[in-house]
Amino acid sequence: MNMPSLSKLESKILKDLKSLDTTKLKKKYLSKEGLLTKEFANIKNVPNDQKSEFGKRINKLKALINKELDNSKTKAKIKRSPRIDPTAPFDCNTHNDKKPHILDLEGSSHILMQEVNRFNEIFTSMGFDIVECRQVDDDYHMFESLNFPKGHPARDMYDTFWTEDGFVLPAHTSTMQNRILRNKKPPIRTVIPGRVYRNEATDAGHEHTLYQCEGIYVDKDISVANMIATITEFLETYLESKLEVKIQPAYFPFTEPDCEFTISCPFCSKKGCSTCGYSGWIELMGCGIIHPNVLKSANLDSNEYSGFAWGFGVDRLTMIKNNIPEIRHLRAGSLKFLREY
Ligand SMILES: [Zn+2]
Repeated sequence: MNMPSLSKLESKILKDLKSLDTTKLKKKYLSKEGLLTKEFANIKNVPNDQKSEFGKRINKLKALINKELDNSKTKAKIKRSPRIDPTAPFDCNTHNDKKPHILDLEGSSHILMQEVNRFNEIFTSMGFDIVECRQVDDDYHMFESLNFPKGHPARDMYDTFWTEDGFVLPAHTSTMQNRILRNKKPPIRTVIPGRVYRNEATDAGHEHTLYQCEGIYVDKDISVANMIATITEFLETYLESKLEVKIQPAYFPFTEPDCEFTISCPFCSKKGCSTCGYSGWIELMGCGIIHPNVLKSANLDSNEYSGFAWGFGVDRLTMIKNNIPEIRHLRAGSLKFLREY
């Protein structure tokens, strides 16, 4: 089979996934005489330069069909299992046979955790180590050590949650910067994933709780060029696409200069699509050269050392990569949504 007829088989399978029941699906494609089984036997006849692409595509089709078969097993199990009344009193001495039935379904990691793990994997392969962000912090780490002195107007950029005794729920993972810069010796290459909180109204694009992934790199003679190369390398690996990048001016107190990092849309090659708002470009993250005052607050000599930092929303990147239109789906706890990933 050549590539165009493989495309026909692909669209046939996509159609059948929606209309055929699993027994028919299995028989038509994966049985001994199945259409896909034949293609596996056919690999040897495909020209050498197309073998790898061909193999990848038929394996992908097989995985699609197997996923559908697994899903239908899960659905059947859910259907068979008796409904339980969660409000009924439950005696823990009840015999095992009489206890409320719990589905023996396998769990899986949440889509956000899958993405955080992928980021960690990529950054680790680039020589970064990983430090997790705290869930409750203080004013010094949230603001002061990051060049936001008390009364600084930029504090208003963050709508933060405070506890009654003066602690803060981090609004960015930069709360860990001072600790890392103070406790490690340059070269410092660290990525900080973590959960952050914003006291703001929610809509399709905004949430009060989200994940951020921040990175810092401090050494001698670090420049904007190192920053652009590092972030580009990460994004090209993650999005599996060659990207054009632009940096535009922005404002953050803890970096100078401050930039907005923008990439060419990997889904439409700059032609315009719904993901990039038909502009061909996606503004993805803030970044910049670490402000000398931030280095000073960690006892690092800014004449000797320099560095860069960046921070991006894990939710936003996850939505872009997986074409998820609504941020609130990520925390709604809907199994129907979560089983898609
Ligand atoms: Zn686009």
